Amino acid sequence: MIVMKDLAAYTLSDEVRPSRRDMNYGMPFGYGKRKYRHRCFLLVLLAAISACMLSGCLAAGSSNGLTSDSQVTDSRNNGDNSGLRIVTSIFPQYDFVRQIAGERVSLQMLLKPGEETHSYEPTPRDIIAIQNADLFIYVGGENDEWVEDILDAPEMEQVKRLRLTDCVENLKEEHVEGMRHKGQICMDTEEEEETDEHVWTSPKNAMQISIQIKEALSALDPAGKEEYEANLSAYLEQLSALDGQFREITQKAAGQDRHLLLFGDRFPFRYLAREYGLDYYAAFPGCASDTEPSAAVMAFLIRKMREEKIPVVLKMELSSDQIAHAVAEASGAEVRVLYSCHNLTVQQFEAGETYVSMMQENVETLKAALMY
Ligand SMILES: [Zn+2]
Repeated sequence: MIVMKDLAAYTLSDEVRPSRRDMNYGMPFGYGKRKYRHRCFLLVLLAAISACMLSGCLAAGSSNGLTSDSQVTDSRNNGDNSGLRIVTSIFPQYDFVRQIAGERVSLQMLLKPGEETHSYEPTPRDIIAIQNADLFIYVGGENDEWVEDILDAPEMEQVKRLRLTDCVENLKEEHVEGMRHKGQICMDTEEEEETDEHVWTSPKNAMQISIQIKEALSALDPAGKEEYEANLSAYLEQLSALDGQFREITQKAAGQDRHLLLFGDRFPFRYLAREYGLDYYAAFPGCASDTEPSAAVMAFLIRKMREEKIPVVLKMELSSDQIAHAVAEASGAEVRVLYSCHNLTVQQFEAGETYVSMMQENVETLKAALMY
């Protein structure tokens, strides 16, 4: 009991959840040290939780609401349902499960609406939720190394898991001219060996992932197979229509030789860009831990805006708008958000926004950015 009480207090302290950015502040090459400390923290946490489970205090913890107070938990245990507990790390797969399983499962997203994905650190409560899940769906890749650490532990052996990066063909993270990466400015297009994990940003990939989620749900809950298949089929129609909208806009723009986007931000849209033949400049690659602007990056982006007469500086949701606004101000452009769908705001969540609704806004944003 004492252990769980301590863990709960630990969870609530801001001190134990420093953002990745804070931990990196002032030491651009300290990433390895951060990872090491993070790994130690997770292993200690997991050991403490296991000790707690052995001593039987988990049940008491649960009855105190330790596993059920998430604002993004849908308690769907009324009537005819499977009782499956599905836990997802971030929003895209949360929404895909919601569309495919409907009212049939209990669904929880670990990331809270409004939280920035790249700063997320799991709490003891999150680890317990993973351990109790019938299926845990995460992304894979560099940003999810904490997940692999946790799932490797013997206590997690029984947890069924689905990794988005296993559902589709992977692309390597790309570094284009002008980006800042690990404290350096990339001079030429170069490819690195890291997988770009933002696979869901292409609607075509979202279709493949949704099919795999349906397969996993059907295997765990054969009685629900028909329901999952019917919901999937309706959802694939929506995704296919979305793909058609992106294709129409980007093909029209390409007809006028317009296919260049500029991001005053990270660039997690590699899969979207490749699907629709878009080129880009950006301040940082995919899930880069670098987020401090440098004078050279700013100068490069402003020069490109002027040379290419680009009317819109893009940024992603829930990230700093410092660079995008500075570039826009210097070049007379407008700042718009292109949703990567890592997560949504509390207001968007409460308003029932979905992957498809946010991607439809992206279609409109691309019209402004490409067809001027
Ligand atoms: Zn990311």
